[in-house]
Amino acid sequence: MDVTYSPSETAFREEVRAFLDDTLPDAIRRKVRTGKRLSKQDHETWHGILAEKGWLATGWPKEYGGPGWGPVEKYIFEEEYVKAGAPRIVPFGLTMLGPVLIKYGSDDQKRHYLPRILDGTDWWCQGYSEPGAGSDLASLKTKAERDGGAYIVNGQKTWTTLGHHANWIFCLVKTKSSGKPQEGISFLLIDLQSPGVELRPIVTIDGEHEVNEVFFNDVRVPVGNLVGEENKGWTYAKYLLTHERTNIAGVGFATQALAHLKTISAKQFSAGRPLADDVLFASRVMELEIELDALRTTNLRMISAAQAGGEPGPEASMLKIKGTDLRQRINNLTRQALGPYALPFVSEVLDDGSNAETVGPEGANTVAMTYFNTRKLSIFGGSNEIQRNIVAKQILGL
Ligand SMILES: Cc1cc2nc3c(=O)[nH]c(=O)nc-3n(C[C@H](O)[C@H](O)[C@H](O)COP(=O)(O)OP(=O)(O)OC[C@H]3O[C@@H](n4cnc5c(N)ncnc54)[C@H](O)[C@@H]3O)c2cc1C
Repeated sequence: MDVTYSPSETAFREEVRAFLDDTLPDAIRRKVRTGKRLSKQDHETWHGILAEKGWLATGWPKEYGGPGWGPVEKYIFEEEYVKAGAPRIVPFGLTMLGPVLIKYGSDDQKRHYLPRILDGTDWWCQGYSEPGAGSDLASLKTKAERDGGAYIVNGQKTWTTLGHHANWIFCLVKTKSSGKPQEGISFLLIDLQSPGVELRPIVTIDGEHEVNEVFFNDVRVPVGNLVGEENKGWTYAKYLLTHERTNIAGVGFATQALAHLKTISAKQFSAGRPLADDVLFASRVMELEIELDALRTTNLRMISAAQAGGEPGPEASMLKIKGTDLRQRINNLTRQALGPYALPFVSEVLDDGSNAETVGPEGANTVAMTYFNTRKLSIFGGSNEIQRNIVAKQILGL
């Protein structure tokens, strides 16, 4: 689909492109392009560069240190950002907690926490899910009981992404046991250095340590760390999730993955000709491309609604379903295009400078790892089945 941009939007795109060209460190760009592991230091370095330019918290208003962009600028930035090979911005402080604090936090909380997110002092993680409370999040059990000027927190969170890098966690906790579960939940900010917090790694199907369990054993949390009102946390939690889901769609990442698939299908041969010339295979690539175009159009439609002053709503669920499904399907077709070259599962290839021996076209060696890693896309941020329920109820009115 051809989109027409105004001269000022085109000039902005040029500015973004030039900035990324000039400032993205080659070592980080290379790691992203070749699918290598990024260290905590890589993320911090890159966040620092973006923060200095004032382009780290792209969704925040100017008064809190954001660039004050509208939805179109954000979209252009994201497109150029992925094209340039920049690493995904770690979302927990910037795109999840930040908007919640800006909308619902006290002035003190905004003054204290927002600058620390921008300058990298705090690395946040998300404490929503628990064993037994994922899709049915409102059934969470972690309890916070008032004791003078503090809450005493007991319970367990799980699947906490990059919790091992974090020094703070935002948590949904139970502050009332009577009534509807949604009406007894509060949103609490907890220092992970507090006595009684214990973090344990979970190693996932791809052999990586990305997620953790977090245990709270009589952890004292000052009452000032409550966001908004007690027992109103469900409202803030849902607000955060719509932001999380919009960002999960990953149109830019799907575009890059499709470009990689096309490169591979031009180099891989079947029956003596490139796969790209095989009508059946080419039509499968085309089908994905059409769906990606439709996703991009839907995203743009939402952007133009947001430009007119709307907040992301249940439509974010559509983006989440389609965006994540597409990325998994592109990866599947890439594996099929590579045939046996897609089989090796050598996690050392993700180490920068690894000498692990690999065969096949460039980028083939990480495809198996990517396959296992992208299983998570249709689970986290609320599983795709749950998103379909939301679309059915809140958009289709079923
Ligand atoms: C890699 C990864 C990272 C994550 N990171 C975080 C994080 O940082 N912080 C955090 O809080 N959470 C995180 N999560 C947790 C994630 O949000 C949950 O896994 C997700 O909400 C699903 O919950 P569950 O795992 O308990 O599965 P369950 O809720 O037990 O669901 C199991 C299956 O049943 C289906 N199902 C359940 N209920 C329904 C229904 N009503 N209708 C139809 N189908 C249904 C689900 O779709 C799923 O397929 C992460 C998860 C993963 C895999």
